[in-house]
Amino acid sequence: MGNANDQCLFCRIGRGEIPCRKVYEDDEILAFHDINPSAPVHFLVIPKRHLENLYDADLAHAGMLGRMMGRIGELARSLGATDGFRVVVNNGRVGRQEVYHLHMHVIGGPEPLGSGIKRT
Ligand code: AMP
Ligand code: ZN
Repeated sequence: MGNANDQCLFCRIGRGEIPCRKVYEDDEILAFHDINPSAPVHFLVIPKRHLENLYDADLAHAGMLGRMMGRIGELARSLGATDGFRVVVNNGRVGRQEVYHLHMHVIGGPEPLGSGIKRT
């Protein structure tokens, strides 16, 4: 039986059908390096279960969202972002979301970062 998630890029990465450079994985979430990094440290954290973006999140997702946020600091530090990082979640058209499977960008590195806001 097929559904829309069969073709979702990040669902497919979550299922291991498309390779990624994995940073962390447990039963609920997966973190992997962004394929087009905008800073020395740039990885994405996704829930394994499909959710388009934060418009579709409610308090039933609090555990999963907390788990994503709760892991990010140690993962950023382990990758060398020891002096700060940004967490960015793009939502919908105005948010310039490109992949419609919820993800948190973690963007850091040794130097100060740009705003992370896409302007083009
Ligand atoms: P967004 O605009 O927030 O939807 O950003 C989607 C992000 O996914 C971009 O930063 C892309 O570089 C990244 N991306 C797209 N395809 C892949 C992939 N196969 N593996 C890792 N990152 C990807
Ligand atoms: Zn998905």
